Amino acid sequence: MDIKVGVLSLQGAFREHIEKIKKCGAGAVEIKFPGQLRSIDGLIIPGGESTTIKKLLKQYNFRKALDKFYNEGRPIFGTCAGLVLVSENIEGEDKGMGYINIDVKRNAYGRQIDSFEEVVSINFSRTGQDKNFRAIFIRAPKILRTGSNVKVIAEINGEPVLVRYKNVMAGTFHPELSDDLRVHEYFLNMIKNYKGVD
Ligand code: GLN
Repeated sequence: MDIKVGVLSLQGAFREHIEKIKKCGAGAVEIKFPGQLRSIDGLIIPGGESTTIKKLLKQYNFRKALDKFYNEGRPIFGTCAGLVLVSENIEGEDKGMGYINIDVKRNAYGRQIDSFEEVVSINFSRTGQDKNFRAIFIRAPKILRTGSNVKVIAEINGEPVLVRYKNVMAGTFHPELSDDLRVHEYFLNMIKNYKGVD
C-alpha cells in the first residue's frame, strides 16, 4: 500500500521534510489548503515561525479539518514551531491546538543561543537501546511539562526533546536538517501501524 505524507506548507522548512520523506521511499505532498488533508495518511507540521503559521492556519480555515484529521487518529508530527502549535499550553500566549498533552516555552534557549547542534539519546522502543542522533536546534522551544502518558523518545540533559502520545509526535529540533532518516522512518512506521500495513 502506498503511503502519502502531507507537509503543511504555509511557511517554514517544509521542502526539507518533503525531501526526507521521499528519501525514505514514501510519497510526500505540500499541503496548502484544508481540503488536501483528506487525501493524506500522515501530516508533518514543520518548523518556522509559529505565530505566522498560526495566522495562516486561521486565514485558510484549517482548524476544523485538522481537528478531524487528529480525531480520526491519523498521525501528526510537529517539529519546532510545529511542536508549539500542537501543544496544550504555550507559556505567556494563547493555548496550542492541544493534540498532545505538553506545555512549551518558545525560544527557550535565549537569544544568545540562536541555534546549536547536540547529540541526543534517542530510544524509539521501550525495550530498545539508546542511540545517538545529531539534532539541530534553531530558536528552539523547550518542553516544560509532559502529561503522564506522554512517552519521551529523546532527551537532552534529562529534558525531553522528542515526545509521542498515540498518533501525535512532537520534537523541539529539526530532524529534516540532519543527514539521518531515522526520525522520519519512525514517523512512517506510525503511519503504517495506523493503516495496518507492514
Ligand atoms: N521560535 C520559533 C517559534 O516559536 C520556532 C523556531 C523553529 O521552528 N525553528 O515559532
